[in-house]
Amino acid sequence: MAQAVATPPTSSTENNPYEQMLRRLRPAAEILQLDEGTYRILATPAKELTVAVPVRMDDGSLQVFTGYRVQHSTTRGPAKGGIRYDLNVSLDEVKALAAWMTWKCAVVNVPFGGAKGGVICDPRTMSQGELERLTRRYTAGILDIIGPDRDIPAPDVNTNEQIMAWFMDTYSMHVRMPQPAVVTGKPIGLGGSRGRRTATGLGVWFVVREALRYRKMEGPVRVVVQGSGNVGGIGAEFLHRNGHKVVGMSDVFAAIHNPKGLDVPKVLEHLGRTRSLEGYPDAERIPHERLLELDCEVLIPAAVENQITSRNADRIKARVIVEGANGPTTAEADRILEQKGVFVVPDILANAGGVTVSYFEWVQDRMAYFWEEEEVNQRLERVMVRSFNDVVATAEKFSTSPRLGAYLLGVERVAYCLRMRGLYA
Ligand code: NAD
Repeated sequence: MAQAVATPPTSSTENNPYEQMLRRLRPAAEILQLDEGTYRILATPAKELTVAVPVRMDDGSLQVFTGYRVQHSTTRGPAKGGIRYDLNVSLDEVKALAAWMTWKCAVVNVPFGGAKGGVICDPRTMSQGELERLTRRYTAGILDIIGPDRDIPAPDVNTNEQIMAWFMDTYSMHVRMPQPAVVTGKPIGLGGSRGRRTATGLGVWFVVREALRYRKMEGPVRVVVQGSGNVGGIGAEFLHRNGHKVVGMSDVFAAIHNPKGLDVPKVLEHLGRTRSLEGYPDAERIPHERLLELDCEVLIPAAVENQITSRNADRIKARVIVEGANGPTTAEADRILEQKGVFVVPDILANAGGVTVSYFEWVQDRMAYFWEEEEVNQRLERVMVRSFNDVVATAEKFSTSPRLGAYLLGVERVAYCLRMRGLYA
């Protein structure tokens, strides 16, 4: 199968997600008048762990993979953040994703700090047995720093409920007792929460709805979604179900376009059956880079970082961008989009539905009492709507973009806890 075209080359700073995170943190710290020492704490991950992950492959050979776990902050509570399996995983990427988790948890006001993990591997070429052995050995490698009260992983790109189940089992065997609350995004029946699988996509839909209301844009609107996984696929389904027209979608293999609107359930059925968007019949196949530039009102990048950059931002036609992915827009692109008057709902708000329901899962595990899906979704909606309103109110108060508004809100909440806790010396 054909691979997606790599992100067009940009400057090395623009390509480095951690630099990108700092380029948003710095102005927020300046507006909040944080002292330089506090800024240094916020800019520096609290803990970075690199582990070798030896795995016996099916052909009998022994491969050694590299795994990371970064805890950016535990100031507001135990660290929380997903685990990514991908060839593009790097320490700087994991550091950026960990810091974004810190700000995100603060924006939606769940009592967690931020973390992220990743293993450099290509899961698409690995068997289930190889993936299980990789997951168990990676879990054992980072075991000392995780736990229900320390750091709670979750799924991210190319990881799923099954991987969380193996992770939880490995941890539980080591500590000699069942510990479902050590990860979230588990299968229901193993301590998973109803509504967790759909939480990020549902949260994206709530945010699109609020953004359209805020910008006084009458629906139905045309939507383009990049990425058709947990966030993009499910997000597209909620938009379709709520009467909007999804005119473009993509996955790593193909980008598809139908100006009359895609039949999203049919697209997802094709994807589930063939594992790729390639060959979907009722749409035109287009180059990946054209997808983001399609005529539409709402664009949802829900794949990976650095997709909207200084190279293509001026060609974006959407009036609203809702960042399902983490870090899809660079700081350089932000400036161009702002000049064009595009309303960008930043990642640390837009995709926070996942961590919000992960928090609900952790709470339910610790109570050993599980909620109905309706209750989970209603609580999620309350959190997302309140957080959207908090972010736009902060942006209005400081006359900034919603992105800076979200940083101001999140960073101030973390800085407040730092001030109150003082420095352990
Ligand atoms: P996933 O593995 O379920 O899906 C990723 C999708 O993106 C797949 O369809 C894949 O084919 C596609 N993709 C990957 N690279 C691409 C490229 N270069 N061009 C086009 N498509 C590409 O992952 P996910 O969980 O949906 O995560 C997507 C993004 O959302 C990531 O940035 C992740 O950090 C973020 N996120 C996920 C969650 C969650 O709950 N899963 C929560 C918050 C944020």
